[in-house]
Amino acid sequence: MAIDETLEHVWADVVTRNPGEPEFHQAVHEVLSSIAPVLAKHPELAENKTIERICEPERQIIFRVPWVDDAGEIRINRGFRVESNSALGPYKGGLRFHPSVNLGIVKFLGFEQTFKNALTQMPIGGGKGGSDFDPKGRSDSEVMRFCQSFMTELYRHIGEYTDVPAGDIGVGAREIGYLFGQYKRITNRYESGVLTGKGITWGGALVRTEATGYGAAYFAQQMLRARGTDVEGKTFVVSGSGNVALFAIEKIHQLGGTVVACSDSHGYVTDANGLNLDTLKDIKLVGRRRVSDYVESHPGAVHVSDGSIWDVPCDIAVPCATQNELTARNAAALIRNGVMAVVEGANMPATSSATSAFLEAGVAVAPGKAANAGGVATSALEMQQNASRDSWSFEYTEQRLEQIMSGIHAACYETAEEYGAPGNYVVGANIVGFLRVSQAMIAQGII
Ligand code: NDP
Repeated sequence: MAIDETLEHVWADVVTRNPGEPEFHQAVHEVLSSIAPVLAKHPELAENKTIERICEPERQIIFRVPWVDDAGEIRINRGFRVESNSALGPYKGGLRFHPSVNLGIVKFLGFEQTFKNALTQMPIGGGKGGSDFDPKGRSDSEVMRFCQSFMTELYRHIGEYTDVPAGDIGVGAREIGYLFGQYKRITNRYESGVLTGKGITWGGALVRTEATGYGAAYFAQQMLRARGTDVEGKTFVVSGSGNVALFAIEKIHQLGGTVVACSDSHGYVTDANGLNLDTLKDIKLVGRRRVSDYVESHPGAVHVSDGSIWDVPCDIAVPCATQNELTARNAAALIRNGVMAVVEGANMPATSSATSAFLEAGVAVAPGKAANAGGVATSALEMQQNASRDSWSFEYTEQRLEQIMSGIHAACYETAEEYGAPGNYVVGANIVGFLRVSQAMIAQGII
């Protein structure tokens, strides 16, 4: 996808001002490649330099996180919080704990989050944070001490009306619990709305755990229906086996699809009869083990440690692991095997060239900022329940999630048509998100 010449100066500026941040460049490039038609129709957006302002986060915080491991050794990690844009509400976005985390990755995630949150139509701005800390192999006490040290700096930057973090890779209910405990201890406030993804007995919302994966499955259903078909009877491949992947698999199965493969960073497992979710949950959620263990109880299944999950034939590919996990070579294999749609559960899981290859081949692509927005939307529902001291039933919350996903699908689909790119959800999502954020920014003046 190419950038219109009227926006080339923005692109050049982003690359110069943010050296060594390829993921951030990639995320900006995708948006810049989509928005020329909307700038032509709304000249006030260019006059107010809203895209230039969106490309510069409002605030970037980097801090030291010292902690002591179980052997008594002092460890030092780096913490980040990038507060990208608050035009539509308090900064909102997850925390990622993974050794690959750096400023460029957090900036790309915060940039994406701004558009995603706008797509939900909820009152939330965009932000993201995390650390290069690796929770894998660490004891619960080590994770707790790390989280306490991380929050001892982060607490001064967040709050229910300021910035509301949540989970992401490496940050689940356990980590959110430790982070919340330390926030409460330092501030002496039981401020439920300061973090989302909390345990359901102490302020968390039902469906939040399932929301991102369920939402991606609902988005897939809408896409297929728009193409005159449905999930029923289709074969899916879902990469990853974390929070997003497991619940995407669950909902796809409930909707009548069959997921034949999933993965972790050590390989993938295929089961032609459809993956058994109880086994997967037992391995990943209870035991924090590897997907390779799946074959022990399912002799018909195969574990592959040195290949690509995208070589497994499927009707719909659902990448749910991490950024740039699906390359042009993988896209070629999927296209050769007849894939009809790609639904991004992860953030920016397809490289730019993979996305271009899919679009050229007529494969529908749901970008992460649309397809995985169910997680943050349900976080906003959690904030709503916290503010009103209420808690909703699973059924009601899931119904709200389904409506939100259907609204996002309709907005992306109709906007793509309106701007001359029918069926292109990438263009549709970028334009809808950009317009909503820009209009709020213009109303709020030059800040
Ligand atoms: P989890 O930590 O629960 O799971 C991540 C999964 O991806 C694991 O199976 C992990 O395997 C695999 N993975 C992570 N990094 C890599 C890597 N570098 N190479 C190969 N595999 C990898 O994270 P989530 O499920 O929460 O997040 C997955 C994606 O979804 C991310 O892109 C995240 O930003 C996005 N997302 C998450 C939301 C949420 O609500 N949680 C909301 C919206 C988007 P292993 O265990 O072996 O590392």
